[in-house]
Amino acid sequence: MLDSLFKPRAVAIVGASTKELSIGNVIIRNLQKYGYKGKIYPLNPSAPEVCGIKAYKTLEEIPDQVDLAHVIIPSKFVPQTIEDCGKKGIKAVIINSAGFSELGEEGARLQEDFLRRGKEFGVRVFGPNCQGIINSDPELKAYCNFTFTYPDPGYVSVVALSGGVGALIMQALADLGVGQRLYASNGNACDISIPEIVRYYGEDEGTKAVILYTEGFSNPGEFLEAAREVTAKKPILAMKAGRTEQGAKAASSHTGSLAGVDIATELIFEKTGILSFTDEGEMARAAMAFATQPIPKGNHVGIITNTGGPAVIATDVLVSCGLEVPKLGEKTIEKLKESQLPEAALENPIDVVATAGGSQFRGALDVLLDEDGVDSIFINFVTAPFTDTHEVARQIVEVNRLAKKPIVCNFMTDLSQGRFQITRDILKQGGVPIYANPSDAAKALGALVKYGSLKRRDIGLPETFTDVDAAKARSIIEQARQEGRSVLSATDVYTIFDAYGIPVARWRVVANAAEAVAAAEAIGYPVVVKVDCEEIDHKSDMGGVAVNLKDAAAVNAAVDDMESRLGSFGKLRYFVQKFLPGGRELIIGATAERGLGHLVMFGLGGIYVEVLKDVSFKIAPVTRVEAGEMLSSIKTAALLDGVRGEKGIDRGAVINLIQRVSQLLNDLPMIQEMDMNPVMAFEKGVYAVDGRIRI
Ligand code: ADP
Ligand code: MG
Repeated sequence: MLDSLFKPRAVAIVGASTKELSIGNVIIRNLQKYGYKGKIYPLNPSAPEVCGIKAYKTLEEIPDQVDLAHVIIPSKFVPQTIEDCGKKGIKAVIINSAGFSELGEEGARLQEDFLRRGKEFGVRVFGPNCQGIINSDPELKAYCNFTFTYPDPGYVSVVALSGGVGALIMQALADLGVGQRLYASNGNACDISIPEIVRYYGEDEGTKAVILYTEGFSNPGEFLEAAREVTAKKPILAMKAGRTEQGAKAASSHTGSLAGVDIATELIFEKTGILSFTDEGEMARAAMAFATQPIPKGNHVGIITNTGGPAVIATDVLVSCGLEVPKLGEKTIEKLKESQLPEAALENPIDVVATAGGSQFRGALDVLLDEDGVDSIFINFVTAPFTDTHEVARQIVEVNRLAKKPIVCNFMTDLSQGRFQITRDILKQGGVPIYANPSDAAKALGALVKYGSLKRRDIGLPETFTDVDAAKARSIIEQARQEGRSVLSATDVYTIFDAYGIPVARWRVVANAAEAVAAAEAIGYPVVVKVDCEEIDHKSDMGGVAVNLKDAAAVNAAVDDMESRLGSFGKLRYFVQKFLPGGRELIIGATAERGLGHLVMFGLGGIYVEVLKDVSFKIAPVTRVEAGEMLSSIKTAALLDGVRGEKGIDRGAVINLIQRVSQLLNDLPMIQEMDMNPVMAFEKGVYAVDGRIRI
């Protein structure tokens, strides 16, 4: 439990300072200004008081129990202080000081030291090199942080590794008038981790939505579990930065975090139903809608506007976010006529026209509330100076209070005019999320709708195929490991595939031309002959693949040719395989991901993967639904169904194959990398014809 951190009844500031421009002073003033309801205990070696509060020389002298301590002292003194905190019974510590793992070896040693003492003396560490936390609960008002934004109480809780981004999000929410509940920015995150904080937010009754900013996880598996638990209860809006190589570099140098250009984080977001953003402003604006609006049941939106163009822009953005703007039924239009001005356009968007007042807006809103084919309402409201804008706002607020369908409002006005400020305040106080332009408003509604579909998406459970021989596969890998081989031989690879029911073209491994001919006769012509040698990775690049061999003479010639050209690589073996022409080449692969098991990849082979990098990934285990999504999410998905008279491929067989690969990876975690490139896919059936496994 992180209650000592987030709900401290007494806070000690180790390193309290009388200098105004110092962290040890700012934190105390923040606690005072924000109206902290608990007790503050400054620690200072000489000053009798700090910020008007009696100061102590040691923790021991403090007469009461203390829950939380800020530590703002040079890093070399931190380990002893943590021990002292433990002895004082302090359960959580925020180390604001820097100078630890982010600064190389000496710092890392200090970090290890204080972590060890923290464990020994029962102290949980937040940070180091971090801002701290905020709890806006009116009963507590804990501002244990050195920033400058004082959030109003609300329902959105923020967690950000980076203090800079955390502050940015906090400020953006404050500017939008979105209240906040808990805030945490934990810098190096060496002990109390993001997954733990997210879990805590999940359990916090006052938190309705979570905002997360991260640059990657040092413990991705733990985050996946935490995210699963929390997304079942409340929305998580998240942003992962460091998506480009340069961005990732910036991330790893500015904190001690382990981020790389990982796609794994995004995949965790997807798997657990976290709403992912690439723009921090957009995320904050979406949070405003999440804080007040119900989640739409579907993607059909009804639009009300009193001006034409902005509704066109909004419609474009809404549609690109996956929403539909359905036609209104006959009856609905009849009903609309009762409230609307004669010049109104009774379609969707409903153009109530600029002269519309409260009753026209209300009439349109009521109709859309009743219309079954509409799941959410988008309002374009320009403050026409010749209308009673307050009354329009009041009508919107009344309908919003019913909370029947989510409402988002693009409110276009000049806020330097007092009159329109009042209109805005009516909307704001009435809990209507308002935005300054159609695109921002539409994206916020788009986020709500996307979240609704994430909530409804059920990926199901991974299937377990019972016709597999896991023991056999494991013994092959064990053997290779004992022999010190990290790349498996063709025989190993295909035997493992066989053991997992992965369909392959008929094959045999032989040592010379005569055996190759015998194998070809047994398999049946035409065949393919490939060189099998650990040193040769890309066989065709080396002239080590001969396809469409129709008779014994062709097989003989192919083997002789490879022997003469490639013999210098060492003892060659030959892989004889059924030739399977005319299929679509797919690539299915996997790679081990630190702390997360494996990622499975699917794509079209050849230029599609090499040039276009058109592939999709999932975290194993991959369910049937997810495997289907992998097929439909590549850019060239249409090719799988066949174009211009070409036949489509056997999707069911590919989906099965992906799931079998997923099970194989689950059973054999020592696999580092595996690919099947290509898998030949036909209208009926798919067959792996090239496989590689590295352990
Ligand atoms: P590598 O990838 O090491 O160069 P492959 O075994 O993938 O070697 O063979 C290269 C190419 O030859 C494949 O991409 C495919 O186009 C073709 N090929 C290989 N085996 C077969 C086969 N059994 N049937 C049809 N085409 C094949
Ligand atoms: Mg290949």
